[in-house]
Amino acid sequence: LLVLGIESSCDETGVALVRTQGGARVPRLLAHALHSQIEMHQAYGGVVPELASRDHIRRVLPLTEAVLYESGCTLPEVDVVAFTRGPGLAGALLVGAGVACALGSALEVPVLGVHHLEGHLLSPFLSADPPEFPFVALLVSGGHTQLMRVDGVGQYALLGETIDDAAGEAFDKSAKLMGLGYPGGPALSRLAEQGSAVAFKLPRPLLHSGNLDFSFAGLKTAVMTQAKKLGDDLPARKADLAASTEAAIVEVLVKKSLAALAQTGLQRLVVAGGVGANRHLREQLNAACAARRVRVHYPELHLCTDNGAMIALAAAMRLQAGCEAPNREYAFDVKPRWPLDSLVRAQPGT
Ligand code: ATP
Ligand code: MG
Ligand code: FE
Repeated sequence: LLVLGIESSCDETGVALVRTQGGARVPRLLAHALHSQIEMHQAYGGVVPELASRDHIRRVLPLTEAVLYESGCTLPEVDVVAFTRGPGLAGALLVGAGVACALGSALEVPVLGVHHLEGHLLSPFLSADPPEFPFVALLVSGGHTQLMRVDGVGQYALLGETIDDAAGEAFDKSAKLMGLGYPGGPALSRLAEQGSAVAFKLPRPLLHSGNLDFSFAGLKTAVMTQAKKLGDDLPARKADLAASTEAAIVEVLVKKSLAALAQTGLQRLVVAGGVGANRHLREQLNAACAARRVRVHYPELHLCTDNGAMIALAAAMRLQAGCEAPNREYAFDVKPRWPLDSLVRAQPGT
């Protein structure tokens, strides 16, 4: 099967083509193309939904053409058109859904609405070292922070999640307080390389809560208080504050991931989502997992944040696993709010 995937849930337009192969466990990525709107939204310090939708409209077809050209495939060869159905910004989602259903209808092929977080979650299958089921997944993105037990495609049990801000949000909001622009996660992480992680004592919220939930809102407040206290000294101490902030977030993510592994008895960890690109997090997790003989898997660095490849992949894997019946109804809806563990696994053949 040749699957075209379209991602438009937030501020990245992504299009990709994957092919499922008979014998192979993991579909192959043939081509993918991405346009990030970050520059456009930077002036506003965050994503402006209306601008996002309009830009998706401008980008999606040129990106589709680019992907077809790069892969050497033609549109009539496409067997399934997949799109991000949610969660995300309603207007932005509607662009991808509308284009996908129009394409599907014109080509007379099935369409498939994909859960954005399932895309993130499965994205490590496109890496050189794809995981095997079952595993614990640490999903750390701009809008979500969750630990899940994953037994197969479509078999997701929530173990714990953030009760307020996501890890990516904690990075971004702290970065904003330090004047590092939007989204500041990568910038904060770069600055942290030059600072001391023990310079400032910042809280590790819920570290000893005894469950697998997270809370990052208090950390952001602590960073703000610290920044105010520093006043004119902030510029000189910014790298130290960045390093201390990163260390606090990473320590909580690592300890809770280890707790989830201990609780489930699983020996495999999969990290996904934008924060999964964080170098410090990867180093700490690698060290902790090596000491416990736990295998840890990540997405390729460029596939940590939003992209079309993970959407095409998730659709292909769902079809392969028999979770989806081909849908030729081209009336579409989107789900701006949509819990991942509500994806019930349909029995193959029903
Ligand atoms: P969601 O998937 O929950 O809807 P999203 O799509 O906005 O949210 P992603 O695209 O997965 O989230 O990731 C974006 C987030 O990842 C941002 O918060 C960004 O700051 C963060 N991020 C990206 N790279 C890094 C890094 N190297 N270190 C820390 N954070 C990072
Ligand atoms: Mg984004
Ligand atoms: Fe995302």
